[in-house]
Amino acid sequence: MKKISIAIDGPAAAGKSTIAKLVAKNLNYTYIDTGAMYRCVAFYALKNKVAYEDEKGVCELLKDIEIQMCPDGTIHLNHEDVTSLIRENEVSMGASIVSRYGDVREFLVEKQREMAQGGGVILDGRDIGTVVLKDAELKIYQVASIECRALRRHKENVERGIESDLEAIKEEIAKRDEQDMTREISPLKKADDAIEIDTSDMTLDEVVAHVMNLVSQKIQ
Ligand code: C5P
Repeated sequence: MKKISIAIDGPAAAGKSTIAKLVAKNLNYTYIDTGAMYRCVAFYALKNKVAYEDEKGVCELLKDIEIQMCPDGTIHLNHEDVTSLIRENEVSMGASIVSRYGDVREFLVEKQREMAQGGGVILDGRDIGTVVLKDAELKIYQVASIECRALRRHKENVERGIESDLEAIKEEIAKRDEQDMTREISPLKKADDAIEIDTSDMTLDEVVAHVMNLVSQKIQ
């Protein structure tokens, strides 16, 4: 069967990675979480005490960064497993700051394109349909109301036993969206040929079924 490339973009905490992972599993495709790569750069800056706002300092670190997205879903930064460390709130905000820098984006976009070569991939992020994989056969723009996104993230935290404050989550994702949508280079926006899915009132199974349906139409 024909192997296509799928791009999923959208605002923070819209459930893109959950959907992408499930669809990738159904199709036996490779899932690439591009947000995790920006998180790795932010985490490395934090670890080396370089301020996120210090563009020159952050960009100088790029030559020392090796990111590995392992088939088991773990993410390794210079051979250290950072899968859960990069999920910290401080790193989320850092990722949104360092992702403004042209050199950071160039460095990561090149890696993403290399990994996506040959098709049979699902990438999720902010600029996949508009920049990274402009020719992707299927582009999805996944959105949900801010209340819904914050509540889902809050529930996830509670389930994982992580301390969580709903209002703080709401503020954090709103701030990140604003930064991601207004930056100069590759801002978050819906590609002209992307299909928008508002998941606010949909169950996980419904979203997956909808995306699988769109994939079938493209493969046929
Ligand atoms: O997807 P996630 O929330 O993990 O992404 C963290 C941050 O990385 C985003 O807020 C955004 O600033 C940046 N990002 C990006 N382009 C991508 C993926 C993520 O700028 N393709």
